[in-house]
Amino acid sequence: MMNIILLGPPGAGKGTQAKRLETERGMKQVSTGDMLRAEVAAGSEIGKKVKAILESGQLVPDEIMVAMIEKRISQPDCAKGFILDGFPRATSQAIVLDEMLKRKQIAINAVILIDVPREELMKRISERVGDDGSRRSDDTPEVLRSRLEVYDAQTKPILPYYERDGRLKKVDGLQSIDDVGRAIDKILDVAGK
Ligand code: AMP
Repeated sequence: MMNIILLGPPGAGKGTQAKRLETERGMKQVSTGDMLRAEVAAGSEIGKKVKAILESGQLVPDEIMVAMIEKRISQPDCAKGFILDGFPRATSQAIVLDEMLKRKQIAINAVILIDVPREELMKRISERVGDDGSRRSDDTPEVLRSRLEVYDAQTKPILPYYERDGRLKKVDGLQSIDDVGRAIDKILDVAGK
């Protein structure tokens, strides 16, 4: 049983890798972005609160996110291992997550960064926007750019937090999807021993 955190900027391929791990290893993908979009689609109380935030590319307040993630990882389908995809997204969330996991006696086996340089992300943004098929409501060039800004300002500072105690493993996100997958598998095989 393994629990991991996938970190990386928007467009790095976290979701793609999480879905593959779900199929191949039976771990559960916990995508906070998907959960929030589901709340918006359902028109729930939370959905109403976060709709405009999602559309702007800014971060949803910690208290909403922390409650959401605590409830989610406590569900039985996460007992076989989970992949956090999109959480934590700020150092404050990383700290609260560690406290929560300690309290629940849940261990994180690996924190993996899919590392992609800014230049490549800008290129991927223009390609993604050109591809109507996979377009999300927050996939306009303006929102994607603002999501990158938010990543640099609020999510990137998490990296030293996980680096300090040697938990952070980096994978070169410029490789093909398959090679990124192989690099992640290698990390998981070592972590699982
Ligand atoms: P994603 O699908 O992971 O790119 O997330 C889509 C949007 O959901 C983000 O741009 C944020 O507005 C919001 N979101 C997702 N995860 C978090 C989080 N951990 N903290 C705050 N906001 C989040």
